[in-house]
Amino acid sequence: MDNKLHLDTDTCRWLKARFGLIYLKDGLAPFCDDVAKQQQREILNHIKQTKKLLTVTCSECDLGTLKPDHEKTDNKCPFGQKYCNCCKTGCKIACRNKVCGAIYDKIITSHVTKAPNWKNTDVKKWTNDSWSIAKCFIYTGGYEQKSSAADTDCAGLLHVIINNTYFHDRIGCKITGSDVFTKVRTYRNEIVHTSTMKLEKVRLDTYIDGMIAVLHDGKELKGKQYVQDTVKKLEELKNEDFIITSQRRECQIVLADMKTLKKNIDKGLEDINNSIEGLATKDACEKLERQISTLESIVSKLTEEVKRLGTDNSADKEQSNYENLKKDLQKRLIKLYKKDVLRMSAMPLEQESDLNDFEDVYVRPRMTIAKKDKKEDKKEVDVLSMSDIFTNDDESIKSVYVLGEAGSGKSSFL
Ligand SMILES: [Zn+2]
Ligand SMILES: [Zn+2]
Repeated sequence: MDNKLHLDTDTCRWLKARFGLIYLKDGLAPFCDDVAKQQQREILNHIKQTKKLLTVTCSECDLGTLKPDHEKTDNKCPFGQKYCNCCKTGCKIACRNKVCGAIYDKIITSHVTKAPNWKNTDVKKWTNDSWSIAKCFIYTGGYEQKSSAADTDCAGLLHVIINNTYFHDRIGCKITGSDVFTKVRTYRNEIVHTSTMKLEKVRLDTYIDGMIAVLHDGKELKGKQYVQDTVKKLEELKNEDFIITSQRRECQIVLADMKTLKKNIDKGLEDINNSIEGLATKDACEKLERQISTLESIVSKLTEEVKRLGTDNSADKEQSNYENLKKDLQKRLIKLYKKDVLRMSAMPLEQESDLNDFEDVYVRPRMTIAKKDKKEDKKEVDVLSMSDIFTNDDESIKSVYVLGEAGSGKSSFL
């Protein structure tokens, strides 16, 4: 019984590719946000001038009824759109503010195939939210609730760049279908849709190099500081000496030769992660997350210390210092637990209110152990001492599952 997932090198590479996509998104989002804002500004200014309007705002129109500014000719949409509002019988309400029909047209003419996807957007937001316009260029659904570039995944951002001709003027790369942006969109699908979750080194390098090439686009992206920072992170992913050590989104990437120290850290994090799983409320989880980062900063200081010791000539001194550091880490962990984690509400159903010292209010729940004897018959025995839980025939147990009704005290016990 081993409750850890052991990742082989190929799986780690796949995880790195997944992180690559997240980094790529981080590198593209501010740029996409800027360009989308400018596009919206230009569209609105253009409408203001050509229609001689004082204001260009509207929050009244509906996609289902909006009459576009363009009209059908010979019973067909002049842009060749099959399902355009110009041809639909129900779409007869012209925007009272004379804005939305014109925006509708502009979105069509800015689209590479003149076929925007209206499913992700809300027409009512077009004049005050630039991302609602940008989302019309994302070919697939599922982005209705995404309200900004930062909120949109890497696939969505690539769609916006590839399908929106306004963006084409802002990148050096020519979108031809075999360009690097389109390639990386394919890579993204390959990474996300793999069934094996494994990756060879050559493939990982191709993927990451593609992502870097996108960010190295010479026109505007390359010169931005946040893009350069992202490229650095992507390059690190290619380095085989970097390993992934934690399941959290901001994965800790540490040098492999720090393995000894890592064991202690992992133990601490594992304990806290187990507590997080036991706690139901979001606030409590966030609090623990903060504690994890405190721990991580302690650990990174210790890592520095160990590194420094690594260059010291005296092996003995190194060993004893290392032992001291370990003890120190343990002490700090215990202190941290006592101060922040071992506090609970006296009322099981009001977990956030009036936190008391754990020892003052904790009542040990009645617990039984479900055992299988040698004949594989199941039987339940009462828990008499803690060692009943953690050992079996004097051997320590690696995984312990605690089951019970809501409010029965699982989290507190943990
Ligand atoms: Zn039309
Ligand atoms: Zn309108």
